[in-house]
Formats: sequence, C-alpha cells, structure tokens
Amino acid sequence: MIKILPSVESFLARQHGLLIGGQWQPAASAATFATLNPATGTELAHVAEGDAADVDRAVAAAQAAFPAWAAVLPAQCERLLHRYADLIETHREELAQLESLDNGKPFNVAYNVEVNVALGQLRFYAGMPTRLKGETYPVSSPGYHVYTRREPLGVCGAITPWNYSTVMAMQKIGPALACGNTLVLKPAEQTPLTALRLGELALEAGIPPGVLNVVTGFGHTAGAALARHPHLRKIGFTGSTEVGRAIVRSSAENLAHVSLELGGKSALIIFDDADLDAAAETALWAIFANSGQNCVAGSRLFVQQTVYDNFLSTLVGRAQALRVGPGMQPDTDLGPLISQAQQRRVQGYIERGLDEGARLLTGGATAPSADGYFVPPTIFEHVADTATIAREEIFGPVLAVFPFSDEDEVIARANAVPFGLAAGVWTNQLARAHRVAAQLHAGVVWVNTYDWFDPAVPFGGRGASGHGRELGMQVAELYTELKGIWIKV
Ligand code: NAP
Ligand code: MG
Repeated sequence: MIKILPSVESFLARQHGLLIGGQWQPAASAATFATLNPATGTELAHVAEGDAADVDRAVAAAQAAFPAWAAVLPAQCERLLHRYADLIETHREELAQLESLDNGKPFNVAYNVEVNVALGQLRFYAGMPTRLKGETYPVSSPGYHVYTRREPLGVCGAITPWNYSTVMAMQKIGPALACGNTLVLKPAEQTPLTALRLGELALEAGIPPGVLNVVTGFGHTAGAALARHPHLRKIGFTGSTEVGRAIVRSSAENLAHVSLELGGKSALIIFDDADLDAAAETALWAIFANSGQNCVAGSRLFVQQTVYDNFLSTLVGRAQALRVGPGMQPDTDLGPLISQAQQRRVQGYIERGLDEGARLLTGGATAPSADGYFVPPTIFEHVADTATIAREEIFGPVLAVFPFSDEDEVIARANAVPFGLAAGVWTNQLARAHRVAAQLHAGVVWVNTYDWFDPAVPFGGRGASGHGRELGMQVAELYTELKGIWIKV
C-alpha cells in the first residue's frame, strides 16, 4: 500500500466545517456525516451536513463578496488564480491521496489524471480575465457607436458528482471566478474532501473570503436549496439526467441560468480497416477507466462483423488481466465502485443483462460486500439494441458489445439512444472518419483515440446528456452576460 502522507492523516482526523464567507463553520443544525473509504467500507472522515439554512448563509456571503470581486482588475484576478494553481501544484500528492481514499480510484490516476487535469484547467481559466471582451457593431442607423460588455452574473451555484470530484469542482470554480462571479459549491456527499481542501487553498492563495464557499451535505437538502435559491443567478450542474431535470424545474422559479453536464451511453465504433490492436486497448480503457464511472464511458462497443470474433477475444483477454483492488495499492488497475448502493445498482444491471438474454463473456456479479465495493470488468455480447443494458447508463465496469455490418447501419444504431455525450470511431479511411463523426449525435467525437480532454476544447452534451459547453473560452457564455451599449455620437 502507498503510505498515507502525514498531512492527509491530519486532514482526515479533523472535524470539517462548511466554508462560508472565509470562515469554517459548523452546520446550523450541528449535524455531520461520515464519508467512507469505498475500498474498505470504513469511515474516512466526518464533515458538516449543511442544509437550506447553511445554503442561505453561503449565498448571502457570496452576494456580499460579489461587488468587490467583480471589480478586481483582470491582471490581479489572473495573479490570484495562478497563485491558487501554484498551491494546488504544491499539494498535488496530498490532493491525489485524498481523492484516491475518498473515491476509490487508483492513486496514479488520481495524481496524473484527476489532479493534473484540474490544475491544467485552473491555469487555463487563470488566463481568461484579460481575454474576456465585448465587440463593436456596425448598426444601420446613422450616428451611433454600439458595443457590448461582458459582465459577470453574480452568485453562481455548482453541484458536482463524485466520479471525478476534483476536476468537476474545478470545472466550475475556475470559470465562475475567472469571469468575476462568486460561487457556492455543493460537492457530492460521497466525495466531499477535495472540495474542502480546494476551498482552503483558495483562501490561502488570497482569494477573498466569500468568493468561494463550500457547503457539504446531501443533494435533496443542500443541493435542492441551492438550486432554487432566489438570489442565485446561475447553476452549473454535473450529475444524472434525473437530477438535471429537477434542477431545470427549480430554475422556473429563480430563473437562474442553467448548464447541465449529464449522463451518457456512448458508442465506440470499430471498423475493420482500423489498427485493431490499438483499438482494442482503447476500447478496454474507454469502458473500464475509473471502473466505468465515467460520463463519457464507451459503454456500447460496435465492432464490424468481419473482425468481430478476433477483436472480442483480444478484448476479453485484456479485461481478464486487469487487476481490481484498493486505489492505494500501487498495481491496481480498477478501484472499487463509489458505494455499496452503486455496487448493488451495477450488479442489478448485470442480472438484468442475463435475464434479458445477453451472453456474459467475463466478469459478472459478485456477492455484495460491506468491506469494499468491487465489481470485476464485465463484458456482454448478444445484447439486443432494445435491452436495458444497451440503453441505460450503468456507470460501472459493464460493456455491451454489438456486431454490425455497414456504416449507415451502425450510425443509426449508435444514435438510437436519448443520450448524446461522446462517441468514438476507429477507421483508417479519412473520408469515412469525417463522414461518421459528422453524423453521430454527440458533443464530442474521438477518432482513432478516446477520452481525451483539453481545457481549451469545449465539452458538453446534447439531448439527455444536457446542454451548455464547459471548458474552452466558450465557457464565458455560461458565466457572463452581454450588455449592449448604444452611444449617440
Ligand atoms: P447525481 O445523483 O445526479 O448527483 C450529482 C449531484 O447532485 C450530487 O452532488 C448530488 O448530491 C446532487 N443532487 C442529488 N439530488 C439533488 C437534488 N434533488 N437537487 C439538487 N442536487 C441534487 O449523480 P451522481 O450519481 O453523483 O453522478 C453520476 C452521474 O453524473 C452520471 O449520470 C454521470 O454520467 C454524470 N456525470 C456527467 C458528467 C458530464 O460531464 N457530463 C461528468 C461526471 C458525471 P448528493 O451526492 O449529496 O446526493
Ligand atoms: Mg468517500
């Protein structure tokens, strides 16, 4: 096992409060809850259980901090955000250990992917304040000079999931603050720890009190209170489609801007002219990375009939070689699922797959266990396009594989789900790559690769996968408003 850093030990031992107006405060109700280590099922730390009263206080603190934060000069805002990034860089190992312990993912993934991606994003957002600009317009009335200003919205809310909690938090903290807003963040109940540490580091970096507030707690209490808060100007939500719908309903009352990064059931398509060995390795990680708890997981794999048998036997062989274990064990490929509830949910899908006639090639349900929520890499074939495991997001290490014969057929089948988050295409025919990529219903299509991100590239979904684009300079659309100004000259 990787040795736990003394700083992580002492962080875990603390009684964590809510970060409101730069102060660590207990919940008004004084309630707390435990976050568990999913590799063992034991308590890792205790955090405050915020609810509506605490959300009120946090929104008030964010409102109070807003005018001064919005007035910070762009270069100074950039300096503060870079100082924040420097601190995250200094504490990279500690954050990665906290994430590995709280979420269960392998430490090297937490370090190299999770924390590094969050850091890369913050560096990118730190460059935004001096680049946010308006435009001038050639209006058709004589004697006018017309321009737009890009202005912050005010108090924003962020509600984030547990699967990549550090990245998901930063994907909202970064642009909200860079655009001059203040923020109240409600992290997932299962993984509150890195959000608390990110709040602490923001204060240490000199970001003024109240600019970033963190309210840990449950979705149906703290999350719902935040989403419907009358003073909220924007809610950035990442999570399930079902809760996304509830967020939209709340916005009917406060008319907050809404952006939604929701679930997926992404198709990865392998044509017989592709580099099949590389494609198999990519297909393996497209589904099993983060134990399948990945919004862009390539959970539907379409393989051209002509190469189907060989491709599948390579893939199954590689899946069987993956090591399942605690995230803090150095040779672990797949950590546990986040919780016993998630383990049961995924096992339910595996049983449903069998009931509906699919053929299990490897993995399958294991006995539910209170001391570590593991599920082995699982692959099904002979899955009907209409089967539950072919249509619903499982959010676990469960792959459905389908043979196909031609391009038009596979595009139609790939598009036949309500989700539209990501897709992948493997082919060595240039024209086919462009043709298929253009026709897939998805916010991102990867060709001869999968699951790549960059802070400069916009990301988001369509349909049941949500709307709005995070990342890239386009994220300014989500966190600012344009004001048109007419000057009679
Ligand atoms: P979830 O159950 O929807 O929870 C997400 C967040 O919403 C959590 O903080 C949760 O709080 C909160 N929440 C729950 N009920 C709420 C309510 N009524 N009002 C306000 N907030 C509420 O999703 P999850 O199980 O954590 O995460 C998995 C889902 O996230 C998957 O569908 C996955 O595809 C999606 N996801 C999407 C992306 C993307 O970029 N598109 C990225 C990652 C994950 P509690 O946890 O405290 O209940
Ligand atoms: Mg936990």
